Amino acid sequence: ALVGLPGDKEINTRENNVAKIKVVVRKRPLNKKELAKKEDDIVTVYDNACLTVHEPKLKVDLTAYVEKHEFCFDAVLDERVNNDEVYRVTVEPIIPTIFQRTKATCFAYGQTGSGKTYTMQPLPLRATEDLIRLLHHPTYRNQRFKLWLSFFEIYGGKLFDLLSDRKKLCMREDGRQQVCIVGLQEFEVSDVQIVKEYIERGNAARSTGSTGANEESSRSHAILQLAIKKHSETKDSKRNNDGNEARSGKVVGKISFIDLAGSERGADTTDNDRQTRIEGAEINKSLLALKECIRALDNDQIHIPFRGSKLTEVLRDSFVGNSKTQGICVNIFFSASAEMEDVYEQDQEPK
Ligand code: ADP
Ligand code: MG
Repeated sequence: ALVGLPGDKEINTRENNVAKIKVVVRKRPLNKKELAKKEDDIVTVYDNACLTVHEPKLKVDLTAYVEKHEFCFDAVLDERVNNDEVYRVTVEPIIPTIFQRTKATCFAYGQTGSGKTYTMQPLPLRATEDLIRLLHHPTYRNQRFKLWLSFFEIYGGKLFDLLSDRKKLCMREDGRQQVCIVGLQEFEVSDVQIVKEYIERGNAARSTGSTGANEESSRSHAILQLAIKKHSETKDSKRNNDGNEARSGKVVGKISFIDLAGSERGADTTDNDRQTRIEGAEINKSLLALKECIRALDNDQIHIPFRGSKLTEVLRDSFVGNSKTQGICVNIFFSASAEMEDVYEQDQEPK
């Protein structure tokens, strides 16, 4: 069994025992290419919470001191851990809190090829299963709760609806610190199969260029949201006619699953191609802004600098906590790579 429990500091004991922030690292197995090139496995996982990264350049001299870098997180999952266990460690504990006003975010951070999509793809399916189970639970089944799904992309700092012919969207604040993405299509979800179909449809709509799907999708952030809304009987029957039922419901809680742009894309700011340069700068900005927000959250700061980018603005209600917000849960999967040092400074006390 995985330990995966956050340290005492992170546990929000007042509310649900779900940590406000949880950082989980997943190590992927070496792929065929790496195996063929006989590359070293430079990452060692131990205690389900720490890993060491060895300097590969020293392998030429076996007598040389092998430099090691140690990093500890809330949990580290090694290459034998499957997606079900990833779900159990990260998203599962958050699910019940969605019914108690939590706005949660779960995102995958890492370089292209590190396994972000592989890791993220199954999570909304498992979450839907559990959310629907709770919807039918005696506690909630008479509350007129419904589950809604939306799927959009942030590409070059702009929002596109992946389930509505890539319609360009804009964002507004509604004065109650709620984020409103104007025109975003929401679909009611009553079983897992339909979620699968929406995910396939949305993925097919992700920005693809002549260079191929993976290349292009690594330049955008894909955001899938599952929201529990409460519907009032009278309003619903009135709104049903114009197809705006989703908008008439009041958000109880929600969870956003984010497959972030490849972290290496933020470095494309010196590329000769103008478009690539602009996109690189935008990705850089959003990943930095995300880092700033996470740090502010981790330090229990009141002011969370969510205005730093479109990405963090979209996630505003996951960052801004008030007494009604039962917990803000952010999961991060870092790819184990040299850049980790840069992203997660070593001033973190090992747990
Ligand atoms: P990213 O989305 O970060 O660019 P992908 O999720 O597409 O990366 O993963 C790259 C490749 O590695 C894919 O072929 C994927 O199936 C494989 N892969 C990633 N993580 C794992 C894992 N934990 N176990 C097995 N294969 C994996
Ligand atoms: Mg991907």
